[in-house]
Amino acid sequence: MRPFLTILILLSCSAFATEPFYCKKPGSALLSTTAPDTTSRGFDVTHYTIDINVDIENRSITGRVTTTLELLENNSLLFDLVSSMTVDSLKWNDSPVAWHHTGDSLIVDQPVPFQTGPITIDTWYNGEPQPHGELGAGMYFRKNGETQANPDGDGPAIFTISEPWTAHSWWPCKDHPSDKATMTMSSTVADTLVLVSNGLLIEETQIGDQIKFTWHEDYPISTYLVALNISNYVEWDEMCGSVPLNYHIYPYHAENAVIDLAPTCDMMNLLSDMCGPYPFAEERYGQVEVHWGGAMEHQTISSMGGWTLPGTGIRQKVIIHELAHQWFGDLLTPWNWPDIWLNEGFARYMEAIWVEETQGRQAYLDYMNYIGRRSHEDLFTTMGILTDPDPILPNLLIYDKGAWLLHTLRCAIGDDRFFAFLNSYATDPTYAYGHVTTADFISHAEAAANRDLGALLIPWLYTDAAPVLLVTKNSWPSTSGTRIELSISQNQSQLFELHIPVYEYGSAGELSHTITFSSSTTTDRWTYPGVLDSLVVDPYKEVLAFWGDEFEPELTMQLPSPNPSGIEGVDFSYETTLSDVTASVYDSRGRLIRNFELPDTGRFHFNNRDSANKPLPAGRYWIRIEPALATQSFTVIR
Ligand SMILES: [Zn+2]
Repeated sequence: MRPFLTILILLSCSAFATEPFYCKKPGSALLSTTAPDTTSRGFDVTHYTIDINVDIENRSITGRVTTTLELLENNSLLFDLVSSMTVDSLKWNDSPVAWHHTGDSLIVDQPVPFQTGPITIDTWYNGEPQPHGELGAGMYFRKNGETQANPDGDGPAIFTISEPWTAHSWWPCKDHPSDKATMTMSSTVADTLVLVSNGLLIEETQIGDQIKFTWHEDYPISTYLVALNISNYVEWDEMCGSVPLNYHIYPYHAENAVIDLAPTCDMMNLLSDMCGPYPFAEERYGQVEVHWGGAMEHQTISSMGGWTLPGTGIRQKVIIHELAHQWFGDLLTPWNWPDIWLNEGFARYMEAIWVEETQGRQAYLDYMNYIGRRSHEDLFTTMGILTDPDPILPNLLIYDKGAWLLHTLRCAIGDDRFFAFLNSYATDPTYAYGHVTTADFISHAEAAANRDLGALLIPWLYTDAAPVLLVTKNSWPSTSGTRIELSISQNQSQLFELHIPVYEYGSAGELSHTITFSSSTTTDRWTYPGVLDSLVVDPYKEVLAFWGDEFEPELTMQLPSPNPSGIEGVDFSYETTLSDVTASVYDSRGRLIRNFELPDTGRFHFNNRDSANKPLPAGRYWIRIEPALATQSFTVIR
């Protein structure tokens, strides 16, 4: 699902002109509901048959839902259905059964004795679907093409949005992502209208001036991904390799949609190369227009808000986002809502991948920074925990920090291992058409990296911390070019595994070096093979961190006196902004002779003796003061 747009006034979003849209966390003005029970509830649904007739004029529905299930426990069965819908009757295997509808729970007593094998529960119900949940979503009764000059619009626009737990505002079900089932959806509509749902159209029967449409989704589907759409669409199809693509668009947007949705097949090919074949290739990938300020990845049939169809081709990130969800969300569904970043983080990251594919690496980094520090100056430190979002939706944490986690993983393990991870995770038959958890994500990433990634991933997944980094850098000429010394310290309590790129610019061209560490501080030393002009830490902002001012300490050291010197020793003086400076004495072959701490006075005396207190042989020596590094040579005579 995409975040909402400005037209949903309560959600107070940013400007309309450029994509993507970012909403602030909404106020609490919308109706709030709690998540349905997360337990297995003692039964496993295997199939839903949903037969709904929509009274467009009166904004109401009458329906019959037949749920086929296996009993796991000898308890009452708990279904979800909002209290504003009315249950007319209910049958257990075609026989009357005791039930009661209390609050948003529909409880069916289990007859005795305990029955094995498939059970069918038929529920006849009716009502006027109301806005539900954090998003005020559910079943919408709108008009397409509605303007001031055309107040009746071009036709009805009926559609559903059910994420995260709004399906039970319009049909009785076990409204939790952990129980996927196959699904059949039927509706009889005026013959000027079309029903569009998940999977394949298996029936289209003219009955007088009406048509009965039946769609069947033969891949297991979660309740939040079930979609009902009714309108007078313009329809067309094309093939993307062996996958049918089809489009159901409101008449006034049909020409735009041809332009805007044109990259769909290229996007499918890109995702298929990276993440394995399109998961629902036996059926199709459809895009249906909805008169709504977002977009939603219903399985095999993404709902695209009219705002994604301006006719200019600038909404490509939304198109790939919803398509990517067919892998990340629909094929691999989070077992529970706290793991929803596995949907939105991956779908958001695929937006960046598409930008990289079509516009190059710099555009990719620009986009990552747009959804990173530019949109979230606090670097997500005030937005809660990625694996426990509150609210579930809309919440940009799961989108943008989720995408940054994947980018960070890629930087840490390299492209080859990262894309191997992506493929193995998305194609693992253990999870396909079933469920994933954050633990599954971690285990696949570690298998691809061939190492423990706890220090890298855990702080981003399970804390709201971000690195606060200070850099101290220094360089000096050496016989082989320029010697570089660079220290980085982490100045926050939660330590991160970090991979910091450093770029060197100078007479040997542009070179880079990565500093990897997970301790509180590290110092790397290396040689640039030329005259160094500048040394820049993370110039492309590939690391999500607060950066303190870079510290280039002052250290100067005067000529030694006397020089040469004998048994009386030699005096040095220096000026520095540092404390805790040390000195090291080397002989002409570069061997360390002695090393000692220096007083803060700026002056010290060296007695020309080694660490065993033996007089130094005559010769030339160097003394180096650290950590900022100043060097002088001196000569000992005997
Ligand atoms: Zn999404």
